[in-house]
Parts: sequence; structure tokens; C-alpha cells
Amino acid sequence: MRCPFCGNIDTQVKDSRPAEDHVSIRRRRFCPACGGRFTTYERVQLRDLVVIKTNGRREDFDRDKLERSIRIALQKRPIDPERIDQMISGIVRRLESMGETDIPSKMIGEIVMETLARIDTVAYVRFASVYKNFQAADDFDKFVSELRPETQAEK
Ligand SMILES: [Zn+2]
Repeated sequence: MRCPFCGNIDTQVKDSRPAEDHVSIRRRRFCPACGGRFTTYERVQLRDLVVIKTNGRREDFDRDKLERSIRIALQKRPIDPERIDQMISGIVRRLESMGETDIPSKMIGEIVMETLARIDTVAYVRFASVYKNFQAADDFDKFVSELRPETQAEK
């Protein structure tokens, strides 16, 4: 981020925190060249993202929908709400930084699963069982058995 005082490009982030409304991140920045301090707000920009469903239909990306599915998966799990917010923002940023406006819904599901797997195994299984739409019980068993090493590692 360019310094608004001296034009130096190499400024440093001193502090990052969610703004009160949790839809933006407030960053305090410092310019080592001139000592200037300024604040930037990072906001989600979703207007351009379009989800391509598996049936080929296009639909505007809906952060609320993503958030709902993640919150359902994490229901009653001992995860700090702030961490969930960070997780959702992280997923959205990842989607936005892929450089494509058209994003297959499958890819979103996979990113969510990957992220949930790192945070909470139970939530991961919940989400994956819905998302992957396991029809055969043995498929699901196989899936859960694949999860087991990770469950143990969590202890
Ligand atoms: Zn400066």
C-alpha cells in the first residue's frame, strides 16, 4: 500500500482487526520512509464473483449463504466466533484472489472442506456429508475412516 504522504510503496501493517460491523478489516499502517501513519479498510468485494453450479447454471456469489452453511456445520462446536469470521473471510479472499470471476461451486465446496478440516473434524464431516451427497453408506464409512488419522492427531 502506497504511503499517502510521501509515495513510498513499502509501508508496514502495524495492527489488523475486524471493524465493529465485521464486514471490514481495519489496518493501521506505518511508513518507515516518512514516519507517516494511516488507516486502511479492507472490504469484501463480491459483486463480480459468479458461481457456476454443477448443472451449468450461474448465480451471484452469496457470502451469507456460504456463511450459513459453515455456521450450520460448526453448530455447537467449541470454536471461537471470531475464528469463524476469520475463516469465512479467508475463504472469500481466496476465491477473490483466484483471478477468475466464474467459480465452479465444486471448487468453493472443496475450499470450505479443506478449511473446515483444519479447524474442526466434526464440522468437516457434517459439511462433507451434505456437500458430497454420499448416497451409499459404505462410501461414507470409507470417508470417515480416511478421517481417522486426523481425528487422533487432534488430541
Ligand atoms: Zn511515507
